[in-house]
Amino acid sequence: MSCPPAELQKKYEAMRATWGAYRATPRFEQFVEFAVILSSFAEFLHAKGLSGLHQIARDIEQQSLALFGDEHTHPIADGALQELESRVEGLCARAASFIEHSTRPIEDRRAGHDSEPAADLSPGRRVWFIGDDLDTWRDLISQLGYFGIKAEGYNWTKLPANDDEPTTLLLDMTGIAIGIASQHMQKLRTRFAASNLLGLNIDADFSSMQAALGAGCDFCFARGTPLPAIMAKIIELHASEEEEAYRVLVVEDSLTASKLIQRTLAENGIESQAIAQPREVLNALKRYQPDLILMDMYMPGCTGVEAARVIRQHPEFLSVPIVYLSGETDVGLQVDALRLGGDHFLTKPFNPVILNAIVKSKIERYRLLRRSMFHDSLTGLLNHTSSKQRLDAAVNAAANEHEALAVAMIDIDHFKKVNDSYGHPVGDQIIRSLAWLLKQRLRKTDIVGRYGGEEFLVALPGANASQAFQILDRIRRDFGQIKHPFNETWFNTTFSSGVSQFPTIPSGEALVKDADEALYEAKRAGRDRVVIHA
Ligand code: GH3
Ligand code: MG
Ligand code: MG
Ligand code: MG
Repeated sequence: MSCPPAELQKKYEAMRATWGAYRATPRFEQFVEFAVILSSFAEFLHAKGLSGLHQIARDIEQQSLALFGDEHTHPIADGALQELESRVEGLCARAASFIEHSTRPIEDRRAGHDSEPAADLSPGRRVWFIGDDLDTWRDLISQLGYFGIKAEGYNWTKLPANDDEPTTLLLDMTGIAIGIASQHMQKLRTRFAASNLLGLNIDADFSSMQAALGAGCDFCFARGTPLPAIMAKIIELHASEEEEAYRVLVVEDSLTASKLIQRTLAENGIESQAIAQPREVLNALKRYQPDLILMDMYMPGCTGVEAARVIRQHPEFLSVPIVYLSGETDVGLQVDALRLGGDHFLTKPFNPVILNAIVKSKIERYRLLRRSMFHDSLTGLLNHTSSKQRLDAAVNAAANEHEALAVAMIDIDHFKKVNDSYGHPVGDQIIRSLAWLLKQRLRKTDIVGRYGGEEFLVALPGANASQAFQILDRIRRDFGQIKHPFNETWFNTTFSSGVSQFPTIPSGEALVKDADEALYEAKRAGRDRVVIHA
């Protein structure tokens, strides 16, 4: 997660400018404009992982939504106006100071020997454990290292004073009264605007959690939370890939209307394409693969409902959400439209805040649904079916581009014994940690899938078998080093892997078969090794 300083600056200045415009002309439309920009700024801070700033922006957003009102409630009362203004200014000041602190070490690095230009505010992958008894966290700290996360432990009294901002702060509250704990958190929250603040060993009762969250904690772990759950959360926070921008297809015959809609969406970081002819919708869907369709109700030659019915005849577009836009206020017609395959109805002229909120929430749900269709719930990797599909696509691409492609099957060694000795949940945790390791070590363009229980499929476009061997053998060695905690002690596990390569073998299926045979060889030869298919 990273954020160019110039982008952050542009965003907060735009927000401040719309607030200034409302101060100058305190009308409802101007307030709407401000609310839209503020909401998109909060969204931006969240996407960039600037958790502290995001919390502040979200609070201001809540406050401004409460003041939203209509044409008759503006200008808002003086007291509320002053308060909102000072909070907006406070947020801008915090953002400015964050930019100042974060750019300094980068300049230092540039002046030194680091030739890599680092023109962003990436907080890096660093974790601090802060507590009185750091021994508790020793195993977790060393484990995180295997996943490329640098963890350090500090006593409450000995926090480093430099300005480097860690990605995540874990605060062990054992033995600290919640009042004092909240003060600690507030202080760290003020110092670190971007870090995730995670509270550890918090009392599970309502008021303790409420106090911790109120003090700026992003997430609370109650006392007794198992270490793997904490580990999983840390990995999740650090592995989160920047999500692709949301895509909306606008089907609207009026050019003015579609321009207006596209502008509103763009202000909220949502990409869109517009078509004026409903009969082009199927092609546009195939080409653009939108996450949602905004459909005008009345268009020449075809109504929105008719177009929606045609779309729903195609299985691949069965679940794309459709939101109708229309000047129509007839309730009967709206019900009809919804019954015939639409998800929501918005009447024109639309309120941009509402449009944005509806589009976003529909897309979030749609993406979650798609995720659960294509990904495995334990590891988040591609599931069996979609890894096979992705492999076939990669084989086709390699054939077209005359490129190499290597495939590896991986199977954890003696896994039945792991389950028998340590229990199924511990086994699950091993599967998860291998998944994390593969994700962390392989490129974004590589395919990593959970092929079966403790079996993984990996495909490396552009790599031949011996390059794949190098990569997997390194992962194998590192995986064997990971200390999996169990009660007061720990244990290791290993995996075996078989590798095959394209173009020696012409299909995804045959590649998997050969990799499987090589895997069998590896098992037979004593496990804990990588074998290339002969
Ligand atoms: P080998 O070295 O020959 O691979 O020995 P193995 O014991 O690993 O044998 P095999 O691969 O045939 O066995 C896989 C075992 O993995 C069987 C099953 O109980 C266990 N398993 C499969 N899926 C899961 C899962 O999701 N979670 C857990 N905990 N265990 C699983
Ligand atoms: Mg129309
Ligand atoms: Mg197996
Ligand atoms: Mg096995």
